[in-house]
Amino acid sequence: MELYNYTAHELRDMLKTKKVSVPEIAKAHVERIKSVESKVEAFVTVCDENTIINKAQEVQKKFDSGEEMPVLAGIPMVLKDNMCTDGILTTCSSKILNNFIPPYDATVAKNFKNQDTILMGKSNLDEFAMGSSTENSYYKKTKNPWDLGCVPGGSSGGSAASVAAGEGVFSLGSDTGGSIRLPAAFCGVVGMKPTYGAVSRYGLIAFASSLDQIGPFTRDITDCALVMNVIAGYDSSDSTSANINYPDYTKSLINDVKGMKIGLPKEYFGEGISEEVKKSVMTVVDTLKKLGAEFGEVSLPLTDYALPAYYIIACSEASSNLARFDGIKYGYKAEKFDSLIDLYKKSRSEGFGAEVKRRIMLGTYTLSAGYYDAYYKKALQVKTLIKKGFDDVFEKYDLILTPVSTTTAFRFGEKADNPLEMYLSDICTVSVNIAGLPGISVPCGFDSKGLPIGFQLIGKAFDESTMLQAAYTYEQNSGIQRRKPNL
Ligand code: GLN
Repeated sequence: MELYNYTAHELRDMLKTKKVSVPEIAKAHVERIKSVESKVEAFVTVCDENTIINKAQEVQKKFDSGEEMPVLAGIPMVLKDNMCTDGILTTCSSKILNNFIPPYDATVAKNFKNQDTILMGKSNLDEFAMGSSTENSYYKKTKNPWDLGCVPGGSSGGSAASVAAGEGVFSLGSDTGGSIRLPAAFCGVVGMKPTYGAVSRYGLIAFASSLDQIGPFTRDITDCALVMNVIAGYDSSDSTSANINYPDYTKSLINDVKGMKIGLPKEYFGEGISEEVKKSVMTVVDTLKKLGAEFGEVSLPLTDYALPAYYIIACSEASSNLARFDGIKYGYKAEKFDSLIDLYKKSRSEGFGAEVKRRIMLGTYTLSAGYYDAYYKKALQVKTLIKKGFDDVFEKYDLILTPVSTTTAFRFGEKADNPLEMYLSDICTVSVNIAGLPGISVPCGFDSKGLPIGFQLIGKAFDESTMLQAAYTYEQNSGIQRRKPNL
């Protein structure tokens, strides 16, 4: 097998036994990027080759000196381009940040520096993480490695595609309404959105602060646990970071679901779900049932209200967060202007794309005096009720199992002209963000066109461990062969 096809824990074992060196792994990934990136276009920025190789040699020296190395040391990884990286261009896939080089690292970026991982580059996304297909990037359209005519999902499409294509062993994405879980399902990799507050958002360029959460894309559940061990934890730089004791997530890698109670919400299996997706997800249910999990039908009655509430909350917060991009503090500045107000107007008109402008306008309206109570406040009330719906189910159940998406990856252009149709892509994922819960997307097969399918597990707040245990048990018993896209 080629070096770019291994998981992080496999590479780690090979490094330990000296079967391979850090520079060999790094070179294999650099070469892989050179050979497939023109097709996949997962990156906004690929890191400088010399920097990558020098770093790899430095890390190898540490291994050679017998130093006790962190678990992910020497592993090539990718960060979504909405996470600040000291000295490296960070664009949020927007023209308005086309020249923004942060003077500091996001907490997650720093965590990985401390691990001595190898940063391969910054991945493409829908501008400001607004979208479900990565078609809203100002720079390029990332392709789905399984079918280059299909979208990789979004908004973290570049992060998902890079891991599926072998350009990075794992990556980080951000998930506000489904942006990790949807692209993970479309690209056939594991993607997890942790509980709100479990991973620091410091240095993550904000979209909707009460919903945004950073999480991993990996090739298997073991790697997901390893990455979670690095990124989960209290951070005093993020006022919403939870100051609790975080578990060692690798302790959840237990092949056992006996007695686990898993709810199947009827609202997620009704109309609109493609037969192939439904069938594949039901096979997961059968597998887990045979292993001793107990399933029951449950109801999350407010599911229909989740998308409308999400779009009001997300757009309101976005309109406020994006007010800082004014042509002065950061990035793009209009060339010609007559006055200060004109500078603001022109920089924002020229710097933001259509979807971002649509949301700023919508959010400004829903926050305006006179409409605040009718829209924003109402949406927050719906949020409370949606959360309660989950709490009620979790009184009797340990986990909830659903599809991630109603269909597999769609084709470029299929939904790009119809924002409402695009918004529907997140119907199975947004409630999890509204309720602040953890959710994971796990590969469970392929459709007749050879496109990946994923299922979703939703856990209780801060109980990523049970979710990981069930996902791991499925993975160990699914009988699915590890497949690679033909690139
Ligand atoms: N697709 C959703 C949106 O456009 C979710 C995006 C996300 O999770 N960042 O808002």
